Amino acid sequence: MESFSDLLKRQRDFFQSGKTKDVSYRIEALTTLGNMVRSNETELMAALKKDLNKSDFDSYISEMGILLEEIRFTLKHIKDWTQPRRVKTAFTQMGSKGYIYSEPYGVALIISPWNYPLQLAIAPLIGAIAAGNCAILKPSELTPETSKLIADLITKTFPAEYISVVQGDAETTQSLLKEKFDYIFFTGSVAVGKVIMEAAAKHLTPVTLELGGKSPCIVHHDANIKLAAKRIAWGKFINAGQTCVAPDYLYVHRDVKDEFIRMFIESIKEIYEEIVKNGEFTRIVSEKHFNRVTGFLTSGEILHGGNYSIDTLTLEPTVIGGVNWDDPVMQEEIFGPILPILDYDDIQTMVGKINEQPKPLALYIFSESKEFQATILNSISFGGGCINDTVMHLSSPYLPFGGVGESGIGAYHGRGSFDVFSHQKSILKQTTTFDLPFRYPNRKDALKQI
Ligand code: NAD
Repeated sequence: MESFSDLLKRQRDFFQSGKTKDVSYRIEALTTLGNMVRSNETELMAALKKDLNKSDFDSYISEMGILLEEIRFTLKHIKDWTQPRRVKTAFTQMGSKGYIYSEPYGVALIISPWNYPLQLAIAPLIGAIAAGNCAILKPSELTPETSKLIADLITKTFPAEYISVVQGDAETTQSLLKEKFDYIFFTGSVAVGKVIMEAAAKHLTPVTLELGGKSPCIVHHDANIKLAAKRIAWGKFINAGQTCVAPDYLYVHRDVKDEFIRMFIESIKEIYEEIVKNGEFTRIVSEKHFNRVTGFLTSGEILHGGNYSIDTLTLEPTVIGGVNWDDPVMQEEIFGPILPILDYDDIQTMVGKINEQPKPLALYIFSESKEFQATILNSISFGGGCINDTVMHLSSPYLPFGGVGESGIGAYHGRGSFDVFSHQKSILKQTTTFDLPFRYPNRKDALKQI
């Protein structure tokens, strides 16, 4: 097997050839990538089914569909994004012009997790290609079918000196990280994010870290409760709660708590009862994660669900009441189909409690009051989120997606993906038709002229 340093050298030489900087080369590569996804939809769905028991519907809307839309959007705008941007110059630089050139970094390493194993490997790749980089992907070892298929398809579709896939676990990643990459794009847990950043620091390699954490969902007394219940049930239980921006826990106003819980349970039944009964509910990725998630069932009181099967690694949508901040379920990101419910009546106390935690990746506000919405937006720092919806913000190519503080560094999607993989090279183009004398120190009246 080729060593990582040889592979990297091959990619670096290819990058130096300048081929990947050619915009028509990037357009062709993105088109080819789109065709690769489209023409292998059935195989990709089958792999996702084996790895996570994902339904074809979920696989399409949360994996393939997102990628195809991202590619379409990028192809539509790439000619514009790759143009040098003209900017103003200062008065003291009269006669000059300012430009910002978006320049590819070189060879990028993309490390991805298992929960959306196709989407989270390929979405950053779209940005890397669009910006003109070469890339090595390291998909997750916990979804072996999808990762192997990604490796096979990429190998068949692109030359290894342009785009390659390295399969393996944490140890493989550690070996890769010893090499000097020009950019590292990591999606995964906070703990591993720290490992990645430390390794990147040794080479001063810039990083994007798309991490996780506990994302709160707040339902105020003036919310449209029925709609809130339905939209939270969808966002929480899609992919069995194994979504980085899934509402992790709920803060509901005490006045509407009982009504909300009743409608939430109705929504779960309406959306998921058949799916669970037919064995089509997404499973937990591994026995280790299954044991971790079912371990949370000892917290509080189960208000709905709670049935699980170790044989199929499934846990049905579950609602837990009567929890407090000391319970295990409130100590770490749940990343499974369990929604713990806390209540509040004093807004400041609730906000204060959220602000005691690490800054979340997402936050959701359900309220009809602009004042309440503004209060939350102004008093809590978080990556991004929705008002009166969940999860949907990540599918807009116009909204940069990423965390803040412990939930991540940097943001991508749409133009954001192109920017993440581009260095902004600032150029001042000076006139030679005249030369302003003020800058030169050899004039006695130099200071007076300024
Ligand atoms: P993870 O951090 O365990 O693994 C992610 C990747 O890192 C995998 O490819 C894995 O092989 C590699 N890895 C694991 N341990 C490593 C180590 N010690 N050294 C080097 N590499 C290592 O994450 P996961 O369990 O695959 O994914 C779940 C986490 O990812 C959750 O916290 C979730 O919130 C987060 N996530 C974030 C986003 C986002 O966009 N912000 C998206 C999906 C998931």
